Amino acid sequence: MKNYTNKLEEVVLNKSEINVSFEFFPPKTDEMETKLWEVISRLKNLNPTFVSVTYGAGGSTRERTHHTIKRIIDDTTLKPASHLTCIAASKEEIHEILYNYWQIGVRHIVALRGDMPASSPNYQLHPDGYKYANELVAGIKKIADFEISVAGYPEKHPEAKSFEEDIDNLKRKVDAGADRIITQFFFDSDVYFRFVDKCHKSGINVPIVPGILPVSNVKQTKHFAKMCGAKIPKWMNEVFNGLDEKQDTRQLIAGIVAVELCRILRNGGVKDFHFYTLNRSELTSAICHILGVSDSLS
Ligand SMILES: Cc1cc2nc3c(=O)[nH]c(=O)nc-3n(C[C@H](O)[C@H](O)[C@H](O)COP(=O)(O)OP(=O)(O)OC[C@H]3O[C@@H](n4cnc5c(N)ncnc54)[C@H](O)[C@@H]3O)c2cc1C
Repeated sequence: MKNYTNKLEEVVLNKSEINVSFEFFPPKTDEMETKLWEVISRLKNLNPTFVSVTYGAGGSTRERTHHTIKRIIDDTTLKPASHLTCIAASKEEIHEILYNYWQIGVRHIVALRGDMPASSPNYQLHPDGYKYANELVAGIKKIADFEISVAGYPEKHPEAKSFEEDIDNLKRKVDAGADRIITQFFFDSDVYFRFVDKCHKSGINVPIVPGILPVSNVKQTKHFAKMCGAKIPKWMNEVFNGLDEKQDTRQLIAGIVAVELCRILRNGGVKDFHFYTLNRSELTSAICHILGVSDSLS
């Protein structure tokens, strides 16, 4: 008889050493804050290595990011990682934020340049600011010995002239002191494995953690994907085709698609996964369980 492998068994029973981390965005309203804290209460039982909170380019969420990070420190035992973008700030402002973070107990920064505001194509960088993320990483290291994660782009950053130049930039970020690369989301596992190969060939030896975006709304994701250079494969459009009004079906498919990606990555040796939660718990929690990461309190 033909031997059909039980694919889920392959993953669930191969769960040793899987580490997960979760990304949240700072809530805008009281209602969103309540929702976020329900999500954090749910996901914290999966014992993430760290949870990160995004930061609007130009510092637009400065207070809200800070507030969320502070509450994570005060109300949980989770390790927070604060995203920090440098694009519109002076070095002095950035240093002040970092001193403050260190003082309240933050030890991990996700160091980013931030996006150029789409509405101002001729946007001027701050004359006394950090121009690129590698400069920011070096600046952070001078302030305190933070753990530092940086962004990597398996399908190339849209502004980079070539893949090679983009990888050279990534190497500069690592050489400046980054401890980990978290990738932009992607949906094709080969894209990730090719990227990791290129990084290794360029002498990048820090962990390259895949960023997993569980997608239940392809239309919305297309917009993000266009901005950040990620590709939505044709098959993905097809599996969600005709389901605009059928959210429950989309949700089920989203879980299957993300689990399949994680399964292939896991079989390719990946042990660390970073989830873009979009401040929701259901899909991330389900995928973690399939990866063998179970609730510690259940
Ligand atoms: C994991 C992750 C988390 C993110 N979190 C946030 C967030 O919280 N807030 C937010 O606003 N955005 C966030 N972003 C998006 C990010 O800010 C944008 O993609 C931004 O456009 C680039 O940021 P970076 O840190 O990768 O920039 P950089 O590494 O500085 O690179 C930016 C571009 O400049 C090029 N470059 C770098 N150095 C040079 C040089 N010397 N000369 C010429 N070109 C150069 C690079 O190749 C690249 O094209 C995140 C992205 C990822 C993957």
